[in-house]
Order: sequence, then structure tokens, then C-alpha cells
Amino acid sequence: MSANLASFLYLVSGVLFIMALRGLSHPTTSRQGNFYGMVGMGIAILTTLAFATPSVGGFLLIVLGLAIGGSVGAVIARRIQMTKMPQLVAAFHSLVGLAAVMVAAAALYSPESFNIGTVGAIHGQALVEMSLGVAIGAVTFTGSIIAFLKLDGRMSGKPILLPMRHLVNAGIGVALVILIAMLVMGQSPTAFWLIVILSLALGVLIIIPIGGADMPVVVSMLNSYSGWAAAGIGFTLGNLALIITGALVGSSGAILSYIMCKGMNRSFISVILGGFGGETAAVADDGIERTVKQGSADDAAYLMQNAQKVIIVPGYGMAVAQAQHALREMADKLKEAGVEVKYAIHPVAGRMPGHMNVLLAEAQVPYDEVFELEDINSEFSQADVAYVIGANDVTNPAARDDKSSPIYGMPILDVDKARTCLFVKRSLGSGYAGIDNTLFYKDGTMMLLGDAKKMTEDIVKALES
Ligand code: NDP
Repeated sequence: MSANLASFLYLVSGVLFIMALRGLSHPTTSRQGNFYGMVGMGIAILTTLAFATPSVGGFLLIVLGLAIGGSVGAVIARRIQMTKMPQLVAAFHSLVGLAAVMVAAAALYSPESFNIGTVGAIHGQALVEMSLGVAIGAVTFTGSIIAFLKLDGRMSGKPILLPMRHLVNAGIGVALVILIAMLVMGQSPTAFWLIVILSLALGVLIIIPIGGADMPVVVSMLNSYSGWAAAGIGFTLGNLALIITGALVGSSGAILSYIMCKGMNRSFISVILGGFGGETAAVADDGIERTVKQGSADDAAYLMQNAQKVIIVPGYGMAVAQAQHALREMADKLKEAGVEVKYAIHPVAGRMPGHMNVLLAEAQVPYDEVFELEDINSEFSQADVAYVIGANDVTNPAARDDKSSPIYGMPILDVDKARTCLFVKRSLGSGYAGIDNTLFYKDGTMMLLGDAKKMTEDIVKALES
């Protein structure tokens, strides 16, 4: 009876998680989606506590763990800057991977506690689940650490391409299959720890060859791995909620990775096998002297006020400067002056999927003014002004025109097709991919050098006067 009730409650939380994902798929319903997710997680935790019947000491340990983990999570969530979210997510994924390894080790050495047999006589099915969980967990652990180091700038974003890396990875993959078979048949702790060591190495080897421009896909791919690792733990622990949640995270992460690959015109397999993304090019190192047209806030205000159509292209720099509110104000002023204003969002603008949408929603930009790349790209040729605020890579024509460029093939927002392109950034420096942007030197471009928020505020003042 109690087992049935627990299963039912886990099912309810599973349904709530699915509703959460559904809600998160659109800005208007995302708060509601988050709420469903929180309620689902609350039910899952309470059900686990109510039906797991731990000893008093065990109960205290669980509460202590919840208190420590919960407070650390709450403090980090309050303090983290939005622009540092990808590395935080990568760091959290690494912990999920580590947890999977630890649970599997605990199950191997103390199978009685998990009702999966006794030492040396663990059920075959449990051994298969355990070995898959530990392998995926260890890959996720080190892979996420490398992604964290790259995203946080503590390690160069440049791809590290080892000789014969595909052969080495394939060799490790085959060795893992053999070791898993040995573990399932012989229950040897040596095989278990060899799986851990090889999987840890594989995690590093898979992520180091991935270059800066492909990091968005890596983040969502590791998200997917951490889900599968959690589902693996769920099988070992016999916990339905963990299996459902893990499978949801695993499959939604995989779907997101696939969508991002399509959005960036990358092959899913190439990104996963590593080595895409390319070298970091030097900034304007070709010795050619180039001239740049620089303008002021007054110039920008004049151009935009006299335009019929302005398309705003936000990027990472807008997030750094927290310029979204000033931007909204600027758009309001332009609309009052009869200018048509639209926002164009590139799928990898900023530092995480949906980054720009979240910031624009925070500034209460109307959703019907915000357009995805494929829906707005053809409109740049009819726009008088493209106002590029803190975006760089997502506009770089090298991705369209230069076959030797590491970002070649990635779709870009065609801002150079607008009559005038205003670029708000602090210098002529490159973006995340480290590639020079030739647009800065084009005839129709005017650089507005300065902090994105300050410059936009100055434009608002100029529009008012
Ligand atoms: P970029 O990183 O290409 O460029 C951002 C620009 O913002 C920089 O060139 C910088 O120039 C400028 N900037 C920084 N701070 C300020 C400021 N305070 N005021 C004004 N400008 C500022 O950003 P994009 O959004 O164009 O492209 C995103 C890049 O990030 C892509 O390469 C993508 O692959 C990658 N990425 C995306 C992820 C995602 O999921 N969205 C995740 C991880 C990486 P300057 O220093 O001169 O001011």
C-alpha cells in the first residue's frame, strides 16, 4: 500500500516536471513552469523522506545535508551574475556526475543497504545499471570541470587537438565495454575503479578539443549527460522520481543540443566527438591598415529618430552592462517618434540559451517585438538602422563568407544589410570566439565606443532633447 502511494506521488511529481518543461518553453509561461517544477520537487523530496524510513541518525544526516546543500545553493543563486550562469551550470553538472560515482561505489561496497543483494552476489541487473551510471557520471564530472574552466576563462577556449584523439577515444570506449562486462560477470572492485579512471579520462578528452564557439552545445550536452547519470542512480536506488527526472533532463538536454547544433549549422556528431570550433584568430593581425567611423550618442539619436525601421541586436555586452532597461526606454522613445522597432535574437547570443530573451522580458519588452533569427533576418535589408548592442560573434560576416574561419557555417544576423549599422561596444576587440569582426571597418558601420548602458542612456537623453 505504502509503496503504491509513494509510486503515485512520484508519478504526480513526474507530471509536474513535464508541465514545468512545457511552461519553460515560452517566456509568458516560464514563471508558472518554474513553480510547477518547485512543487514537483517538494513532493518528490517529502515522499522520499516519508517512505524511506531511515533511522533517526540517518534522518538527521539527510536534514543536515539538505540544510548545507540548500543554503550553499541559495547563497550562490542570489549572488551569481546572469553572465556567469553557464559556468555555474557546468559546475553543478559536475556535482551530479560525482554523486552518481559515489552512489555506485556505495552500492558496490554495501549492496544490502540498496536491497540489490550482498557483497559478491549483487543482482546482475543492478550491476549493469551501476556500471552505466558510474561511467556516465565520471565522464560528466571531468567533462563539466573542463567546461567550467573554459567558460570561466581559467583555461583557454582554444581547442586542444591531440593526435589520434578519435582513435584514443574509441579505444577507451571499447575498454569500457570490456570492463563493464567484467564487472557484471565477476563483480570485481578493480574493474569498477578502472571504469571510473577511464571514464574520468574520457570526460577530459571529449571536452578539450571543443572550441569556444561550440561551448553552448557542450553546456547543454553535459546537461543531458548529468540527467542520464541521475537516471542511472535512480535505478540503483530504486527511486522512480529520480529515474523520471533524470530521463527528462537527459532527453530534454539532448533535444536542446540537437536544436542548437541545427541553429548553428553544426553536425551534432562532430561536436560530440570534439574538434569543431576552430582556432582562436588574432584580432586585426593581418597588417592591413583599416579605418573606423566612430560616432557619438547624438549621432546615433539623430540617425534613429529619422529612421523608419530600427532593428536592435542584443548580445553578451548588453548583459554585462545590464543595459536592457535603458534599451527599452530608447525603444519607447523611438516608437513615440513613429519609428518601427524590432529586436532580433540569435540562438547563441549571450552566454546561455535564452539569455537575451530573459533579459528583455525582465525589462518588459513586448514579446511581439522580439524575433528569432530565421524570422527576422530577411528584414535587415529593409531596415534603416541595425542597433547592435554588445553583440559581436553573432554578426560576424566571416561565418558567412570566410571558409577558413573557425565559425564558418554558423548562421549570423545580417546586420550589414541594414543601411547603417551602429555597433555599441567598448573597443574594437573580439567576442567570445576570439575572431576579428570586419564589419567594424565597413562603410555603413558607425562604432559607438563605450559601455552599452551608458551609451544607450546618453542616446535616450539626446532623443529627449
Ligand atoms: P560576443 O561574446 O561575441 O561579444 C560580446 C561583445 O560585447 C564583446 O565583443 C565586447 O566587446 C562587448 N562588451 C562586453 N562588455 C560590454 C559592455 N559593458 N558594454 C558594451 N559592450 C560590451 O557576444 P555575442 O552575444 O555576439 O555572441 C555570443 C558568443 O558566446 C558566441 O561566440 C557563442 O558561441 C558564445 N557562447 C554562447 C553561449 C550561449 O548558450 N548563448 C554559451 C557559451 C558561449 P568590448 O570588449 O569591445 O566591449
